[in-house]
Amino acid sequence: MIRHGLQKIYKPEYNAWSHLRDRCNNPKNAAYESYGGRGIKVCECLNNFSNFINYVGKRPTKNHSIDRKENDGDYCGCKNNLRWSIRKVQNLNQRPHKKKSALPRGVYMDRNSKFVGVTNG
Ligand SMILES: [Zn+2]
Repeated sequence: MIRHGLQKIYKPEYNAWSHLRDRCNNPKNAAYESYGGRGIKVCECLNNFSNFINYVGKRPTKNHSIDRKENDGDYCGCKNNLRWSIRKVQNLNQRPHKKKSALPRGVYMDRNSKFVGVTNG
């Protein structure tokens, strides 16, 4: 019951969590080659969705996706190799007409101040 509640409240986060697991564990995933196929694993600290939320907190904006600080490291919260970051490449095709003032800048932390991520603006 709690798990279902979390899924509802943290829907984008839940999607991100299930997708990162899929990228690493499911050879049929389109991105598997760049993740699981490259030896990138998901640490068992992320086997539980509520742990994931504890590590990264809420997604800052819909432009953020889950990333690793060390590109060759595993997805892992206990060793702090997990963060929300903005996918720049994808955003190139979505240039807004006006200046993007709503884009978040600076430093992000979760509620427990455990995780700090920096965007490049
Ligand atoms: Zn871990």
